Amino acid sequence: MTVSKVFLKQNRKKRLEQGHPWVYPGEIEKIEGDPQGGDIVHIVNHAGHFLAQGFYNPLSQLKVRVVTYAEVEVDENLFFDKIEQAWKRRQWLLPEVTSCRVVHGEADFLPGLIIDKYEDVLVVQILSLGMEVRRQWIFKALKKIFRQRGIYERSDVPVRRLEGLEERVGFVEEPFDTKVMVRENGLSILVDVAEGQKTGYFFDQRENRAALKPLMSGWGLRHGIQVQENGHPLDTKGKEIKNPFWNGAEVLDCFSHTGSFMLHACLFGAKKVTCLDVSEKAIEMAKGNALLNGFLHRTEFVAANAFDFLREQVKLKKSWDVVILDPPAFAKNRQALQGAIRGYKEINLQGMKLVRNGGILVTASCSYHLSATLFLNMLQEAARDAHRVLRLVEFRRAGIDHPVLLGSEETDYLKFAIYEVFDR
Ligand code: SAH
Repeated sequence: MTVSKVFLKQNRKKRLEQGHPWVYPGEIEKIEGDPQGGDIVHIVNHAGHFLAQGFYNPLSQLKVRVVTYAEVEVDENLFFDKIEQAWKRRQWLLPEVTSCRVVHGEADFLPGLIIDKYEDVLVVQILSLGMEVRRQWIFKALKKIFRQRGIYERSDVPVRRLEGLEERVGFVEEPFDTKVMVRENGLSILVDVAEGQKTGYFFDQRENRAALKPLMSGWGLRHGIQVQENGHPLDTKGKEIKNPFWNGAEVLDCFSHTGSFMLHACLFGAKKVTCLDVSEKAIEMAKGNALLNGFLHRTEFVAANAFDFLREQVKLKKSWDVVILDPPAFAKNRQALQGAIRGYKEINLQGMKLVRNGGILVTASCSYHLSATLFLNMLQEAARDAHRVLRLVEFRRAGIDHPVLLGSEETDYLKFAIYEVFDR
């Protein structure tokens, strides 16, 4: 069988050569052959020199998605090797980790394929036609590499339509209990891979959650608590404090979902964490996880819309040592960006008003349409309106199991910033 050739224009930006994994319609000079949707094609330059091979999809704006830069057979073995390599990379860079993202789409040279490992359960998300038609290769490879209890498919995302695909969810083979206990930084976290957001949990913030550690203590002393010579703390009225977490932070965790930030906050010594999520189900899950780790007495839970709740707390003159904002992607596409920026600004504005002078704002955005520059601009406007001055402690990205390709800003979606917040 001869492979069709997609010729790229001579006068184009050399994005493919710079590491970008997609070919857009405007970059194509001509197509030689009659490729069908999902077929492998050769991407060649204007002179016919081979550049890469990729999945072809005439229906999509991403006409070709790069699978390999080598002139090799794209078959079941290649898929096995790629998935195995992706898994080996995680074992190498995250040797302690048992639950993580194993395959992160184009950044693992498997365009449109997401594989998350939740201990002995795998969750697969297929986002491209080329992957969809090769789904059996994926499942076969997974069975060979992992001794999993089961595989669950979470292809329930609207972007599949852009590839001409329907949404799809369910067990790949035999049904199993979709509630899985994952281990992270020594915590036990119960996740439901069928019901949870995305594939059940957000592994991309693993390292960011660990970064909360130094922020969770030192607050009692800052608030004027004195320690006697015998080591016992006294409150400002001279009364002895019994609470062992007297020096811990009071934390507001907004958009808490599974409660993973709350769990880390408690692990690192927080005095009290308030979890907020609009979804009752999410709140139940977070509460269950607090109980599981013995943190129930240091937590409280509110099911409410963050936009209303934050404004309300500002009116009530409430304040916290640390406010965490980890909202869902408000901008699902470029058209929605302006509205999304208003949303981000509003929660950040109210959120920073709730931080005590000298306290901490932890703020994230997982929307790749909102670049890091736009994110920082938004924060500056919020700070201006809130009359606060922000000083950066740390700016972070997604974790190691979510690699970023240089040349593909789409793979660099997560912004995570820790700021000290001062009055102005
Ligand atoms: N921090 C979470 C992930 C956040 S996912 C974790 O560590 O797992 C985003 C969450 O925001 C979801 O649980 C969703 O229910 C919640 N959410 C979406 N819109 C909201 C709103 N307007 N107010 C409060 N919560 C909201």
